[in-house]
Amino acid sequence: MIDAGGCVSTHVAMAQRGHMRLVWHEPYQGVGRLRVVAWTCDCRATLYELCHAGGQAFIRRTLQLDGDRRVHETYRWPVCQAGEVWRALLSGEAR
Ligand SMILES: [Zn+2]
Repeated sequence: MIDAGGCVSTHVAMAQRGHMRLVWHEPYQGVGRLRVVAWTCDCRATLYELCHAGGQAFIRRTLQLDGDRRVHETYRWPVCQAGEVWRALLSGEAR
């Protein structure tokens, strides 16, 4: 994505009318390794990361507010389904 500000990472599009509403939970402190496979640009107050863990995937959202960080996660989905939700999130069809 080309961005005038010189950002390298992806930015999420504005949420569209009637977008799918994701359910955001407190982070689940599970065992096992977590792998971040995609992320959005940290120039924004809200970061999104697509995470894989134990053969499943979910999206993690981090709100950066005055040095404070609030983290939430979606449900865990099969990897291919999470990839579809990730694309919808980036395009503004889900938030
Ligand atoms: Zn940026």
